[in-house]
Amino acid sequence: MTMSGTDAHLLVFPYPAQGHMIPLLDLTHQLAIRGVTITILVTPSNLPLLEPLLSAHPSINTLVLPFPSHPSIPPGVENVKDLPPNSFRAMMLSLAQLHEPLLRWFRSHPSPPVAIISDLFLGWTHCLACELGIRRLVFSPSGAMALSVIYSLWRYLPMRQKQNSREEDGQDEIVSFPNIPGSPKYHWWQLSPVYRSFVETKGDQDSEFIKDGFLADMESWGLVINSFDKLERVYLEHLKREMGHDRVWAVGPLHQFEDDEEIRGSKQRGGSSSVKVEQISSWLDTRDDHEVVYVCFGSQARLPNDIMEKLAFGLEKSGVHFIWVVKEPINGHVDSTVPPGFEDRVARKGLVIRGWAPQVPILSHRAVGAFLTHCGWNSTLEGIVAGVPLLAWPMSADQFSNATLLVEELKVATRVGEGSRVVPDSDELARVLADSISKNLTNRVIRERVAELGRAAMEAIKEGGSSIVELQSMHNKLATLVSPRNTFKFSGNEEN
Ligand code: UDP
Repeated sequence: MTMSGTDAHLLVFPYPAQGHMIPLLDLTHQLAIRGVTITILVTPSNLPLLEPLLSAHPSINTLVLPFPSHPSIPPGVENVKDLPPNSFRAMMLSLAQLHEPLLRWFRSHPSPPVAIISDLFLGWTHCLACELGIRRLVFSPSGAMALSVIYSLWRYLPMRQKQNSREEDGQDEIVSFPNIPGSPKYHWWQLSPVYRSFVETKGDQDSEFIKDGFLADMESWGLVINSFDKLERVYLEHLKREMGHDRVWAVGPLHQFEDDEEIRGSKQRGGSSSVKVEQISSWLDTRDDHEVVYVCFGSQARLPNDIMEKLAFGLEKSGVHFIWVVKEPINGHVDSTVPPGFEDRVARKGLVIRGWAPQVPILSHRAVGAFLTHCGWNSTLEGIVAGVPLLAWPMSADQFSNATLLVEELKVATRVGEGSRVVPDSDELARVLADSISKNLTNRVIRERVAELGRAAMEAIKEGGSSIVELQSMHNKLATLVSPRNTFKFSGNEEN
């Protein structure tokens, strides 16, 4: 990898949720090895998550600002993973209070950043960038299809017909997206909870602020997506048509880019593993190829107890070998309890990991044959890169779009459930789980398809591959930026 050395000083501002931070830190690593000068903004309790990156790049600076309080966020909590479901909005509103401290920091810095790259949930940083006369790039931890749906929602503001009726009415209404390739359609309840809560509280100041943030994303100078051309070409082209061809860069899969084992697959990636990687590897080593089902619903989802029970009994009845990652319950909220006695009964078949699991190394083990996933975008990419067929059970956010892409378009996943609304019983689950690792023709075809996509992902990040080319083009464009303090010609946020 060549170090080009550039004067560009970039402020990286991640949104504090694991699925958002992990890929943006991976991108930051790529920019750092290309010579970009970087400052990362975090609040104090998220600082440990930067550790692997900072030890690989001691030259990266940190800007640690106190976490701004919010009535829905308990003191001491600074990451969405420690909050009850649907706390994204509260976190967005809380972080917006960093506008003034950031402005002061920029104004007092001897050589301040020429651009901000920030998460798509931090749209207000576009306005901050305009105020400072610098550029803002949006980082999307969602894929291009899901992002097309998200942006379409905020641009066209579809409403429920039964607006004034009870909350549960109208949840099954269909919302169509005719402007997106393939004209996808979703039930109201499958749309982003941030959007749905905007509609429910429409007109209040916070809701308008959230909407303005997403509109500001679309006005930003650039958009960087953790995806790659062969995976989502039509949706990437759609976004390029909407936002401008030279403003959208698909640079994924970022987790695989890494040539430095210290960060990729690191035990510390996104959190410290609650069970030693070596212990999991030794357990997997004793299994045959493709005979283990890996079950994980990402960093946030806590399943209600009735689903936990069905899943536990399904795993037990299926007789498959499995690793099941269970997130610790959050005080006073959904219980997410493994049924008593379950672990003793399945001790010879499965491993239950409570807390944080080293997902990337698990998926890449030869013994893993299927991945029961909530279809978070990072998990989706990680499963594909590892060549593991997916069992799709989307829960929330962009996961329903990701499941459509995986099941209906790419045909690398089997649909298992949908949130808490479509929940298979334990017999059905047992059947699907057992089928997923059988060596029948259908599975062989799916496995070959996902392996082919995995190879395409690796091609994208090889010298000359689409994601490397796009990353380089983004870097070149960043390198042309100069601080407004160093030029009299610059005015506002016009293209150059
Ligand atoms: N992850 C992990 N261990 C866990 C849970 C999650 O390493 O126990 C990682 C996973 O590999 C992925 C990220 O956390 O990189 C989760 O992101 P995703 O988009 O899949 O889902 P989210 O957590 O945002 O719902």
